[in-house]
Amino acid sequence: MKWQKKKSQKKEKKRRFFKRKTDQESVNLLEPEQALDNQQPASDSPEDTQEVKQSEHQEIVPVKMEKKRIFKRLKERLTKSRKTMGVWGKKRLDDELLEMVEESLITADIGVETTMTIMEALNDQVRKKIITSTEQLQSTVLHELMQRLPKSEFSEDDFIYNPHVILVVGINGVGKTTTIGKLASRLTSQGKKVIIGAADTFRAAAVEQLELWAERASADIVRHKENADPAAVAFDTVQAAISRKADVAIIDTAGRLHTKKNLMEEIKKIRRSIAKKLPDAPHDTFLILDATTGQNAVSQAQLFHQALNVTGIILTKLDGTARGGIVVSIANTLDIPIRYIGIGETTHDLQNFDSELFVRALIEPE
Ligand code: GDP
Ligand code: MG
Repeated sequence: MKWQKKKSQKKEKKRRFFKRKTDQESVNLLEPEQALDNQQPASDSPEDTQEVKQSEHQEIVPVKMEKKRIFKRLKERLTKSRKTMGVWGKKRLDDELLEMVEESLITADIGVETTMTIMEALNDQVRKKIITSTEQLQSTVLHELMQRLPKSEFSEDDFIYNPHVILVVGINGVGKTTTIGKLASRLTSQGKKVIIGAADTFRAAAVEQLELWAERASADIVRHKENADPAAVAFDTVQAAISRKADVAIIDTAGRLHTKKNLMEEIKKIRRSIAKKLPDAPHDTFLILDATTGQNAVSQAQLFHQALNVTGIILTKLDGTARGGIVVSIANTLDIPIRYIGIGETTHDLQNFDSELFVRALIEPE
């Protein structure tokens, strides 16, 4: 009978799903983590979830496992910062430990003011005996930090325009070109057509570097001669994106000091030139900030934002600093969401910013 057939198909689907899940979990990437699992909608019935439907056809790794893999990598890459925050070896809850926590928050660049308010909360709860163990102290720090970070639900699905034009700005050496390469790879691997515009025309080497990344990502590139007008390159990139029906156009620009007025004017000209071709573009202006520059990143962001209405921050080189707490500082001080983080120099070292994963990677012991 028809319904019986359907039922047995469903059963088979369920069996295959659990088999795949068990196979994957036997890789044992991480110990099961309750709170991490809680991030995903609970699902007792696999047929109901989209991830199952997808995995039937495309062998997509279930989201939970993917998240654990991402978390594992993030933890590895944040080792330097985690060492700063790693004060939990001490088992006794006393004034000395509280001082160590305070020092680690300051050293990690969470910001003096934020540290003070967190310490007030901790001291208060210790006094009232709400916190009575090191573990409770640790989880309260985690909670306090998490509270200060907006939950980020951004993904590439938010690149909704056709083409979605992204302008990438920032000072010299922060990782603009590298990040564009990583992002382009990410997008093309999702089946999107990507065009990159080489509007950093100051140095031939800059274009060559971008070309390499474009090649790696199987993305198209629009380039002009050295010293060409960057606004013209940007215009042509958008034009090419429209005519070649690209999903995303990403425009690289030369590093500029946020304090130099003429350079900021130049980037405004690039913006106008993009809008001339496509009136609501650029749809995103991403500011790249180098996490190793500490608090200076915050003032850079303020000035760029005033001039360009930045829609997202990408914080790079978090693998190279012990001051990963700068993320909290930036999120607290600025009204601009952190979209991605850079945690290394390879294609895979760009992650969507997930505040909970980030704080946990920062605080949790091995
Ligand atoms: P741009 O001048 O802003 O375009 O910066 P580049 O993309 O040329 O990058 C400058 C340097 O920073 C290069 O050596 C990159 O490999 C390096 N870099 C970029 N992002 C990261 C990152 O997330 N981690 C590390 N460790 N290095 C990075
Ligand atoms: Mg560059």
